[in-house]
Amino acid sequence: MKLFNCQACGQMLYFENRVCERCGHRLGYLPDDDRMHALEAEGEAWHALGAPQRLYRFCANAEQDACNWLVPAGSEEPLCAACRHNHTIPDVSDAQALAQWRKIELAKHRLFYTLIKLGLPLANRSDDPDSGLAFDFLGDPAPGASEGPVMTGHANGLITLALSEADDGERETRRTRLHEPYRTLLGHFRHEIGHYYWDRLVRDEDRLEAARALFGDERQDYAAALQRHYDQGPPPDWQQSYISAYATSHPWEDFAETWAHYLHIVDTLETAHAFGMHVRPAVDPTGDLSGRVDFNPYRHGTIADIVDAWLPIAFAVNNINRSMGQTDVYPFILTEPVIAKLGFIHSLVGADRATGT
Ligand SMILES: [Zn+2]
Ligand SMILES: [Zn+2]
Ligand SMILES: [Zn+2]
Repeated sequence: MKLFNCQACGQMLYFENRVCERCGHRLGYLPDDDRMHALEAEGEAWHALGAPQRLYRFCANAEQDACNWLVPAGSEEPLCAACRHNHTIPDVSDAQALAQWRKIELAKHRLFYTLIKLGLPLANRSDDPDSGLAFDFLGDPAPGASEGPVMTGHANGLITLALSEADDGERETRRTRLHEPYRTLLGHFRHEIGHYYWDRLVRDEDRLEAARALFGDERQDYAAALQRHYDQGPPPDWQQSYISAYATSHPWEDFAETWAHYLHIVDTLETAHAFGMHVRPAVDPTGDLSGRVDFNPYRHGTIADIVDAWLPIAFAVNNINRSMGQTDVYPFILTEPVIAKLGFIHSLVGADRATGT
């Protein structure tokens, strides 16, 4: 993600900030120009500092403190570009559900930052009632109910996320039980949206053969493949050609896992780029672990450029995390077959962009 600062006082901001901590200006993100704006009130509406001719209001979800994005004041749409995809949100009178939903929205807005930046198709259910992108954020049924717990997943554009995934203890319990090195809300979104874009960009765009050559034949029985994965686990040599153990379960899951990693890497590299990060370890005679991010990975670079920039940064940040007693930021290994799959996704999302810096 890029860095934002307050137009009124210069304070550096987080994407999630609502108010500038230094000067007190109200803040809002406008996806149209990819900027965080310091705002001044004008009646019921707001305008960006120094630009009184354009009026905005906040997304309706700002009322629940679940969104800080802006909508043009004249728009008929009450919700912002990210929130208009919400199909089911929890009962906001339930304090626990509201707190979980807010955490989910933080992750979802970061997802949308990336999707918009990559120029990916974003039809919602009003644009495309059958398969537009939509989200159900669902709480588990009461104990003793006939239906089981909510399963996170994707079907025909509808992404379901269990509210319980926003509970850190619950999510960590599942991560441990499933032997996963990484489990986050943002990771869930980046994975599930991968299934959505497989439908849009692979199936609907006639790229099935090219995808099968890398990920395998997705026509194999999905339910049986998942059952086999849960019964037998991944093949022993899975790390040679898959980014995660779960990616071995079915070609759709391999695609979604690899897609998630593409978004992880590109967005984290943009942050490193925005900070001018440059790593040059003292003990690196070959220079293999030295690198700088001298391009914006959302706009430029081949997959080789992206991976070359990523490896030294990921290694450095993993080490910094270990110094703080934290787990690795990026506990994964990129092998040549995995890089080839990432390259396929790079070509899907950025077919027409320039290479180089
Ligand atoms: Zn400020
Ligand atoms: Zn919103
Ligand atoms: Zn999946």
